[in-house]
Amino acid sequence: MKIAVLAGDGIGPEIIAQALRVLDALKHDGLNFELEPGLLGGCAVDATGEPFPEETNKLVTDADAVLLGAVGGPKYDALPRAQRPERGLLGIRKALNLFANLRPAILYPELANASTLKPEVVAGLDIMIVRELTGDIYFGEPRGIEQRDGQRVGFNTMIYSEAEIRRIAQVAFNTARKRNGKLCSVDKMNVLECTQLWRDVVIETAKDYPDVTLSHMLVDNAAMQLIRDPKQFDVMVTGNMFGDILSDEASMLTGSIGMLPSASLDENNKGLFEPIHGSAPDIAGKNIANPLATILSLAMMLRYTFNQEDAALRVENAVKKVLSQNLRTSDIFEPGMQQIGTIEMGDAVLKNL
Ligand code: NAD
Repeated sequence: MKIAVLAGDGIGPEIIAQALRVLDALKHDGLNFELEPGLLGGCAVDATGEPFPEETNKLVTDADAVLLGAVGGPKYDALPRAQRPERGLLGIRKALNLFANLRPAILYPELANASTLKPEVVAGLDIMIVRELTGDIYFGEPRGIEQRDGQRVGFNTMIYSEAEIRRIAQVAFNTARKRNGKLCSVDKMNVLECTQLWRDVVIETAKDYPDVTLSHMLVDNAAMQLIRDPKQFDVMVTGNMFGDILSDEASMLTGSIGMLPSASLDENNKGLFEPIHGSAPDIAGKNIANPLATILSLAMMLRYTFNQEDAALRVENAVKKVLSQNLRTSDIFEPGMQQIGTIEMGDAVLKNL
């Protein structure tokens, strides 16, 4: 199992270090990982002038999976667009054809007070949002800003082929199958033809998954329902733009950005696994960042790329145990809990593992 490890910038190296300790502990159970470090983002710009250097491209292409910390920082904000760390992220997604983004929004009962919503609305929340990542209005052509009739006009193209819709729908149905068997497809078919096709193709695909209960929701209603009664959802599937917005909304239901992992997969379940948060330059180098989102990203890697469900569950259960022992990094701290640092959180997960 060959894993490319891209620690990135800011808190990236600190949180990745803790995830690697977990991987190392799993090695003692006979799981064999070959780790290959590489550069992505600001650190890659510093070393090579490019956010996604050719050497990293080769590394991630040869690997079975990629574990990423986070990229970016104020130092790079003034660079030309092509050199910005975020370009490195887009580059890697494109190079690996990572079309399926899986983002769980889980609120462990112990952290119910971290949400701005009432605990009874969100405690025990466990949603998986499946977002299409390589198509839609973000990539559609034509696009641009141009002069028309004496004024500037901006335009983009929302476009999906049925093959693109079918493959993301299949990922979503398969994901629902592994969970509670409920899938809600989100579109805007009352206004947008592109998403009428989305709904038609999702319904066609459903014929191959009679064990999954499919429902549909318009995106404006979905945004409301996520706040009103989020526990009604199991798996949600949607396009790139709606998914961008809804997955951020869902993650904020949990109120703890340092807890949420993500996976981006290709057709063969090769994937890039990373926490949803950024490089947090404000807390970098202080041993206070929460490494749990990165450790949970590792669990997703074990489950989705390597089919090691038992190992994935062990890691997730170790994280749950740490929370039940009232150990907290500063981002999820509440009075009465014991506040610990990044490395101590890694220690605690290892002990429970
Ligand atoms: P951020 O997620 O880095 O930080 C937002 C807030 O959450 C900060 O107060 C930070 O201290 C806190 N936070 C984030 N992760 C945490 C953790 N693990 N433990 C404790 N606290 C944590 O978002 P931002 O500040 O908007 O962006 C900072 C940089 O990260 C920018 O350069 C941005 O472009 C980049 N970024 C990268 C990614 C990525 O690599 N995928 C994603 C988002 C933002």
